[in-house]
Amino acid sequence: MSELSSSSKYVIVGAGIHGLSTAWHLAKELKASGQGSGSDIVVIDKTAVGAGASGIACGVIRNNYYQPAMRELMAHSVSIWDSDPEAFSFHPVGYMQISHEGMREDVTTIYEQQKAIGYSSTFIEGAAESDAYMKGIFHDWQAKGITSVLHEHKGGYANNMASLKGLLAKAEAEGVQVRSGVEVQELETNGGAVTAVVTNVGTIACEHVVVAVGPWVQKFWAMLDLPTVTPVKGSDGVIHERPTWTYWALQEGTLGVDPGYLVDNDGNMPPVIHIDTDAPLLDDGGELVTEGPWGIYYKPDFSFGGIQGGYVPFIVDKEASEVAVDPYGPASPDFVVGDDFYRAWTSALAHCQKRFEGKSGLIKEEPSGGIGSFTPDSFPVFDQFSENAYFIADSNHGYKMMGVGALVAKELLGDTQALLEPFRYSRYAEGKLHPVSNSPYPWS
Ligand SMILES: Cc1cc2nc3c(=O)[nH]c(=O)nc-3n(C[C@H](O)[C@H](O)[C@H](O)COP(=O)(O)OP(=O)(O)OC[C@H]3O[C@@H](n4cnc5c(N)ncnc54)[C@H](O)[C@@H]3O)c2cc1C
Repeated sequence: MSELSSSSKYVIVGAGIHGLSTAWHLAKELKASGQGSGSDIVVIDKTAVGAGASGIACGVIRNNYYQPAMRELMAHSVSIWDSDPEAFSFHPVGYMQISHEGMREDVTTIYEQQKAIGYSSTFIEGAAESDAYMKGIFHDWQAKGITSVLHEHKGGYANNMASLKGLLAKAEAEGVQVRSGVEVQELETNGGAVTAVVTNVGTIACEHVVVAVGPWVQKFWAMLDLPTVTPVKGSDGVIHERPTWTYWALQEGTLGVDPGYLVDNDGNMPPVIHIDTDAPLLDDGGELVTEGPWGIYYKPDFSFGGIQGGYVPFIVDKEASEVAVDPYGPASPDFVVGDDFYRAWTSALAHCQKRFEGKSGLIKEEPSGGIGSFTPDSFPVFDQFSENAYFIADSNHGYKMMGVGALVAKELLGDTQALLEPFRYSRYAEGKLHPVSNSPYPWS
């Protein structure tokens, strides 16, 4: 392997979905504009490609967001996934948001605005109509408390590591250098701008640094002395002080059946299912798991080897600086799922479809899940700090957001992107916040 260069015009930290996508798109933009090429870019990762959240993501790709700016951004990202489904291991099976009455109004709005931006979806309202629509897909559908179904015909899911490998190949084909085992320890600054990244294997002088480090973002935030508390102007005009970073733990797992166990009535792979209901949830023995509301998502998945999905996440009740991000994901002693998740998720599967009744014993009892780093309003921050440090802090929305790298690449070359404007850090002080939905998830 070649020596790590002592300087590179662009240093991208993090070889996850955002770091790799930014590198690939930036290389193409540099070449197209005659300003350089992929050899001006190095991506460094302290571990390896996919060592962070991107490598364990469930891989769901959807548009279903209550916030107009998020929906427009997701529609753009889906177009990138659609551009090369094979290389990205993308399965465009669609996505369904199946909801209880408390969410109907929000989801109606989403549907109306999907129509307005030309994003293909079907919306069903009413309890009997929703049930009939779902039975048209799965004859054994039996979920209770449902009064609307939003069926997105685009989107679906992708296989996490396979997509990253596809992106890596595209970036390397453009001449980008991607180096594993290179850990940034410090950012050197001079006159306000970052001049070099100091790593465990040497210092790399740079003109631009892109910070795409997922759950490790608060470390880089601290390296630049950015505020740990963010003043947020509410709709009442009052300033509320919020921690800049908060962690949530995502609970996910796999039922060990053949993925083909979940084909639809026509024998095809179904859309990704996401259900939120307020019906009581009972386990196999008829004991109450929760009064509700609760929610799950699931899909057949060959790389996980079964029916894979998740339950509602929980907030990590610690200050961000006290949360142990390493070891990450399934290697974490603190943030992997256990018996409570197995019981709730398998009970919820059986609540939705008869074929899952009595199957709770097939849950794979292996470490899974992981944490994500969330911003003060749980929506992304895409912004430049210290003159030349571009942060891609997706607030854990981001595996699906492969298109963000394409937009960031343009911004790095001075072309401001309207789709990214609603995600600047200044929105907190200005009170330009995204609307909040009635979803139980911090990411809807
Ligand atoms: C369990 C789980 C399931 C999820 N499911 C979905 C989903 O279905 N759909 C969806 O859209 N999103 C999902 N997400 C969210 C999504 O995975 C993340 O938002 C996204 O992957 C973040 O990508 P990233 O490139 O910013 O960071 P990451 O993928 O986390 O990559 C960051 C990289 O930075 C490296 N790094 C960190 N510190 C340093 C350092 N000091 N020096 C050098 N390198 C460093 C790490 O090694 C890592 O490889 C899920 C998240 C989790 C945890």
